[in-house]
Amino acid sequence: MGIALPNDFEARMRGQIGADYDRFTAALEQPLPTSIRLNPHKDSTLADAGDVVAWEPQGRYLAERPVFTLDPLLHAGAYYVQEASSMFVGHVLRQIAGNEPDIRILDLCAAPGGKSTHYASLIGNGGLLVCNEVISSRVPVLSENLTKWGCPNAIVTSNDPSDFGRLTGFFDVVAVDAPCSGEGMFRRDQVAISEWNTANTRICAQRQQRIVADVWNALKPGGYLIYSTCTFCPDEDENNMAWIKSTFAAEPVEISIAPDWGVTPIEKDGCTGYRFIQHLTRGEGFFCCVFRKTDGSTATPKKLKTKLSPVPKKLVQRLNEMTDGAAFDYYLRNDTAIAVPQAIATDVLTVADNLNVRKMRTAVAHIFGDKLAPEHDLAQSWALNRQAFAAVELSQQDALRYLHRDNVFVADAPAGFNLVTFNGLPLGWIKNIGNRWNNLYPQNWKIRMNVE
Ligand code: SAM
Repeated sequence: MGIALPNDFEARMRGQIGADYDRFTAALEQPLPTSIRLNPHKDSTLADAGDVVAWEPQGRYLAERPVFTLDPLLHAGAYYVQEASSMFVGHVLRQIAGNEPDIRILDLCAAPGGKSTHYASLIGNGGLLVCNEVISSRVPVLSENLTKWGCPNAIVTSNDPSDFGRLTGFFDVVAVDAPCSGEGMFRRDQVAISEWNTANTRICAQRQQRIVADVWNALKPGGYLIYSTCTFCPDEDENNMAWIKSTFAAEPVEISIAPDWGVTPIEKDGCTGYRFIQHLTRGEGFFCCVFRKTDGSTATPKKLKTKLSPVPKKLVQRLNEMTDGAAFDYYLRNDTAIAVPQAIATDVLTVADNLNVRKMRTAVAHIFGDKLAPEHDLAQSWALNRQAFAAVELSQQDALRYLHRDNVFVADAPAGFNLVTFNGLPLGWIKNIGNRWNNLYPQNWKIRMNVE
């Protein structure tokens, strides 16, 4: 029994890909490829986990799908489970901005954070990544994934795209991974099939146009828009691509692809988009196109009253000892000291003044008078100074118990805060208070599966 696809979808797809339609539906019957993307800052010996994704050096196809929840390395941020086609945006960013660019990137539709963690891996130490999610209930999972990933230069906002209009010409790159009709996910997502209808694809296309129009002002002259969807619907893909070119001062940018990737270039009105489709590409359905903005201005955003104040000077030395020695400024937010790389401090303050910041990076320590209690954020951040804390390495079973928020008994560890690691990668903190250990793993992130 094949996947039952809506009749109107079939009719439209037969028009789009003709005789290939049967190959396409046959491909949807094949098992879903499982792929992960490695965190280059968290060496986890996973380099040999499987075949390399052709367009992403950190991408790996796994031979089978493990129970990811029961792998402590996932919770350590050693990798992100991500379908392979979506990793194409990393290839795009490398082409338009080079390696480790010190640029400002806005990932406008960011939850749950697949592409955000990818951009976080690619920006330089002087880069800023703003990960935005308008739907408030989807922000916690985005924050959690970014915390585990560990990039000190990524912050999370929750704003409507139109709010970014205040930051005229601020971003070098704006990525719009648009909410869409999800046709490219039909193999894995029965809900996407059941919710699909032609009228809805039109609503999606209009919403996508609104999103791009709302955020366009925030893009710098000469900056790049990366527009992507996980659908095949022309209104949402190539027709919107042509609409962007005809509506804005937007120059289409060609992206290099290799013939053996199986990516289909889609030409429309002088633009090229890139389509990933299951019978040709090793991944799910995906579409991406890129534009360079040729007009506009940059403006110094209106300085509002800053919501962040510096931490008391007497604490700075101690905070510096907890971080890895890179140059940070420290700000106070709800009695917590936040480390902001000095190279981007002005940018971060500008974002904090103008937008609804839901997660600053990196929360280093909670301040109680003269006492500093390390924050979970620090444990998993690339900014952590490992030498500053005692660490206890856990077995896989104890790591799972820790992630389940059970009591974990660790012999011979000093009093106070201890970093808990698995395969050398931090999972969080425990505190030795003499007669027992307090498990400080965040309550909301605890594994709910049985781990015994
Ligand atoms: N980029 C994400 C990733 O790689 O993990 C996936 C993003 S998903 C395709 C689209 C996102 O857009 C969703 O998180 C959704 O909540 C958000 N969204 C929905 N309506 C929106 C709107 N009107 N404006 C901006 N974002 C919206």
